[in-house]
Parts: sequence; structure tokens; C-alpha cells
Amino acid sequence: MIRVRIAPSPTGFAHIGTAYTALFNYAFARHNKGTFVIRVEDTDVKRNVKGAEEAIFGGLEWLGLDWDESVVTGGKHGPYRQSEKLDVYRNKAKELVKKGWAKKEEGAIRFNGGLYEKKINKWITWKDLIRGEISFHTNQLTDFVILKSDGYPTYNFAVVIDDLDMEVTHVIRGEEHIPNTPRQIALYKVFGQTHPEFAHHVTLRGADRRKLSKRRDPVDLRIYREQGYLPEALLNFLCLLGWSHPQEKEIFSLAEFVKLFDLKRMRKAGPVFDVKKLDWMNGEYIRKTQNSKLKTQIYDFYDGEYDKEAIEKVLPLVQTRMNKLSEFGTMANFFFKELKIDKKLFEKDYKMYLKSALEVLEHVKPFNLDAVSKELMRAVKENKYKTGDFFMSLRLAIAGSRFTPPINESMVILGKNEVIKRLKEVLD
Ligand code: GLU
Repeated sequence: MIRVRIAPSPTGFAHIGTAYTALFNYAFARHNKGTFVIRVEDTDVKRNVKGAEEAIFGGLEWLGLDWDESVVTGGKHGPYRQSEKLDVYRNKAKELVKKGWAKKEEGAIRFNGGLYEKKINKWITWKDLIRGEISFHTNQLTDFVILKSDGYPTYNFAVVIDDLDMEVTHVIRGEEHIPNTPRQIALYKVFGQTHPEFAHHVTLRGADRRKLSKRRDPVDLRIYREQGYLPEALLNFLCLLGWSHPQEKEIFSLAEFVKLFDLKRMRKAGPVFDVKKLDWMNGEYIRKTQNSKLKTQIYDFYDGEYDKEAIEKVLPLVQTRMNKLSEFGTMANFFFKELKIDKKLFEKDYKMYLKSALEVLEHVKPFNLDAVSKELMRAVKENKYKTGDFFMSLRLAIAGSRFTPPINESMVILGKNEVIKRLKEVLD
């Protein structure tokens, strides 16, 4: 039975890298009908932040990466919070001291790397499921600390005890953990246990090929939610950074990913985290989302600021033009609110254009797209106006911006009275 886990540390917020690692573990578990577990690695006490656990769980929930066992659900292999099993680590460390594999030094307990080299092997080798064979010379193990003097285990020690307790079969994590793996394998060995399979995926990198960083890059998952990325699109984007589709497809669902998932298709070098590509992909998802669903997503995104029925009316005009939910407001705000028009935006002949437009629109019947478009064009031709200038004035007067959905369609949705009112106000 396959069991995988992610082991985030609660150091402040949900990191996009956690979601990325979670995604591959999730797919591996679901594809193989196994179990996906979340363990909270909170033994680095100084770095723990209140509320961080909730942020991590909330972020994964938003993405739809559901898990089987965690501190939230409770499971038979718990506790899932390391700080709740300090006595277990202590006893295990003592066991190693008794057997000579570890020694006490100034209150801390250290692994005896030298003894390992002498008694077991000079090389530690494993067959990484993504990268193939990896070897480290045992002299790199050193006498590393397993239990600190404050009674807390170090990461390399706790991770081994926990993965054993939780019967983890496959450890799928970022490549930054490759140098930790030999120490962990040495510990499995001296406990007389076989180690789980290891698979180290590529890490997320920015355009400069450096690892995404908390200081330089938007790594908090919440930022993506707040900017109006759809969870499905973000997941799809993350998939492609670590995995390639057998038909080189770019757009695919989480369900398809799970179905096709194979560690053999994991990349050994990843493309960079390119926000422009994410924007494009998000736009693709927005365009293929059903209107009724998108309506609700926009409604929720704006916390009910826009009326659902009105969103539905406007949606066909903006759906093809927006890449993020946050662009709905930018593009469609004028449908809902009367804006203060900045007259400095207009070119010099705007009054002439608007007067003609007003005349046409007051008389056009019926006030539908066909008639409005035809009559306005007739006025443009008769007066030998420049089409672009004429419609730009109209756009600015009605929507207060140069970038709007098609203006004739927009006016029809706004309705005759509202359009006339807005034109008169600018002309006043
Ligand atoms: N707490 C570690 C991390 O967040 C877990 C590494 C592992 O999966 O072993 O990187």
C-alpha cells in the first residue's frame, strides 16, 4: 500500500513550493490508490508562526488537493504534529546511544558518522526514482546532531522516525533535500530498517534560475488567490514546471494529471516560473469556464460587491479579454458605478463627437446593437469624422477609460437612459 506525505514547516504562510510538492505527492497517491498524509514539521521552534498551519491547510483546500490524514483529520499514524511526540524522538535517540551509533556531547546527541564508515560502508547509494543512482561518500555524513540540547530532534532525525512511524513508502520532495538523504539513509540502516523510495523533483526557479525566494518572489499562495488566479490554472501551471504531459499538452485538468501521472515523466531540469505564462494559462481557464461557474467565482472574488445578475450580463463582453479575476473590476467597473470622468483624458474635438453621438443615440430605435452600430457609423461617415477618434471619445465618456470591452455592446447593456445621462454629464 502506497503512502506518501508532505511535511511543511509552519513558518508563516502557505508557500507555493509546498503546493508544488503536494501536487506530485497527491497525484502519485491518487494514481496508485494510496494515501496522502500531511505532517507538520514544527520542531524548529524559533521559526514557528501562529496561524501558519491554518494557512497551509487553507491553501491546499483552495487548490483542491485533498489529503487523507493530518492534524486536521486525525489519523491512525499520528500525531501529525512533531512537537507532540518529543518523547518518541528522545527514546529513539537513546536507543542509538545504547547501541553505540550515537554519542552524548554537551547535552546534545550526535550520530557517530565515523563508526558508520568503519562498520557499514564507505558509500551511501540510492536509486532516485526521478534522477537515477545517486552516491555520497560516507565521510560527508560527519557526526551530525540528532537531538539538540533543548530536547528537540533535528530535521534529519525526526523525518526518519516519522516516516517509519507513518509507514511512508515514497518520499517525493524537492531537490534541495538530496544532500540530506545520505544522513537519513544511514539512520534507517542503523535502526535495521529499509528506507522508503526517494524521488527528488526539480525546485521552482525564477528567470535568473535561482530558487524562488521569500524576499524576491511572490511565494505566498494567498497572493495568487488575491490576484484572481483560478486554482485549476495555477495547478496546471505547477504541473508543467515539474512534469511533462505524454502528448506535450499544455492545458489539462487535475483529473487527467492524476490519471496519467508517472514519476518517469518528472523533469530533471525544470522551466522557469514565468508569471506571463501563468497569466496566459489563467486566461485560457477563464475562457473555458462555464458562465454560471465564472459568475459565482467573480461574485465571491469581489465579496458580493457586484450583483450576480449584472455580472452575468457583462460577462460575455469581458470574459475573452481577462486573464485574471481582478481584471473584471478594472474592465467592468463602469457598468456598475458611475465614474467621475477626467476631462483631461479627451482629445480636443471631443465635444463635437459627443454631441453627434448624443443626437444619434437619443433617437435610435430600437436601442439594440444593430441599430446603435449602424446609426453611429452613419453619423461618422456623414460628418467625415475619424472613426477611431469618435469612438475613443465615446469610450472615455461612457467608461472613463481607453481600455474597455467593445463600446457599442457596452452601451446596449447599460441601456439608453444611462448612456444619455453619462454623455450629457460630460457635455455639461
Ligand atoms: N520540512 C521539510 C521541508 O519543508 C520536509 C522535507 C521532507 O519532505 O523530508 O522542506
